[in-house]
Amino acid sequence: MSPDTQQLLRSLPSVSALLEHEEVKDWLHGLPRNTVVTAVQEAVAAARKAIVEGAVREPVDVHQVLARAEEELVRRSLPSPRRVINATGIVLHTGLGRAPLSDAAIEAIVEGASGYCNLELDLATGERGRRSDHVAQLLRTLSGAEAATVVNNNAAATLLILHVLAGGREVIVSRGQLIEIGGSFRLPDIMRASGAILREVGTTNRTRLSDYETAITDNTAALLRVHTSNYRVVGFTEDVAIGSLAELAHRRALIAIDDLGSGVLFDAKSMGLPDEPCVTSSIAAGADIVCFSGDKLLGGPQCGVIVGKKGLIDRINAHPLMRTYRVDKLTLLALEATLRHYQDLEDAMISVPTLAMLRASPDELADRARALQEQLTKAAPGEEFLVCSDVGFAGGGSMPAEELPTVVVQWRPSRQSAQQAVSALREADSPVVARVRDDAVCFDLRTIRPVDLEPLVASVAAVAWEEGEEPPRGGIPLPLL
Ligand SMILES: *Cc1c(COP(=O)(O)O)cnc(C)c1O
Repeated sequence: MSPDTQQLLRSLPSVSALLEHEEVKDWLHGLPRNTVVTAVQEAVAAARKAIVEGAVREPVDVHQVLARAEEELVRRSLPSPRRVINATGIVLHTGLGRAPLSDAAIEAIVEGASGYCNLELDLATGERGRRSDHVAQLLRTLSGAEAATVVNNNAAATLLILHVLAGGREVIVSRGQLIEIGGSFRLPDIMRASGAILREVGTTNRTRLSDYETAITDNTAALLRVHTSNYRVVGFTEDVAIGSLAELAHRRALIAIDDLGSGVLFDAKSMGLPDEPCVTSSIAAGADIVCFSGDKLLGGPQCGVIVGKKGLIDRINAHPLMRTYRVDKLTLLALEATLRHYQDLEDAMISVPTLAMLRASPDELADRARALQEQLTKAAPGEEFLVCSDVGFAGGGSMPAEELPTVVVQWRPSRQSAQQAVSALREADSPVVARVRDDAVCFDLRTIRPVDLEPLVASVAAVAWEEGEEPPRGGIPLPLL
């Protein structure tokens, strides 16, 4: 360490000295001592690091350290997780909490959270009921299945189904369907954790019915189809339709399980959406058990829905592990309200935000883009905003190969790189998550809701501050400390 560095380090104010500073004493009046001490310690540590790394060559002054500590206190005072503006155009963005809920689902949650509800009470008889019964009827009607139940997410649904219906026995799966989806869900690992034995058949690109048939042994419990949610095998391919798989399973007294991932309750294509497997068709084709996520294309709360044969659903419901995966009342209330929309498809297309966003036409998006462009141009004079067409994706392991034509407002910041602007936008008072393309920040109108517009414009204006102006607090990362 050079004598200069040592000199600079000696000039650093100590934590104890800073705690005696008038400004810090003021903070201590309103905040817990521990919080203030930690913020001051972190500010001193950051200054020390900057000196050691050679990023600072001047003596550090008390006010710089205190400013850094104050930044830290402001950051800690914010709720987390908190609301962010999704300008990525990815409707089902797992990092941003997937599906936004319908107004009816939100009302149901607010109502349920503020009081009591007959979660496990049959009001007619006064007896204890099963919580999933509240949605079972709707799910039966909408899917055509005999019975239905609900768990915390579709990963749990898959694990539970395999454990209860195939634990200790073989489950046959096509090699082309051994998926890995985000958040460390890998089918072979889930299979192992469930206690079922994975029997892979076929090849990556081609699996025939005869491959399943020859792999069946006395120890086989089920044939499993897994929807290749986040990838597609294209080219010289062959797979087996769920109907043929079910027919084979029944001929050999086995169970046909269909993990749809992002199941939809109607024919997606006929409603102007890219094709995704339909729960109702899978049941109609003979699948004994079908599972899917609540917060993918269904557009509801995070949960895993299981529908199928009554005898099998009864076994799942009766298993002790079911208790460990049970959903809370808020999830159930939101799911119920979401499912109600599907009783009238026209209503669902408008009221379920996921569907409305996915169906938004390029014309509609272009109108909204021009309105945003106008507001941005007014709020950040000197910056250029362009309306451009682009392509986006649904996300959440849905429709991976379907490029959705979309419209974005492009911003090439005049005083910073697009990458710097995107980072600063994430840390703005109203955080904005956007993507960079061709060194421009892109705001995709598909996922920007009307209520997001004003805060979005404010955040962009703050990040694109005028020369000579102070950078807004929280907007720009402090240069050195
Ligand atoms: C998404 C997905 C899952 C996991 O669902 P979560 O609701 O995220 O737990 C399981 N299987 C498939 C095929 C999926 O696409």
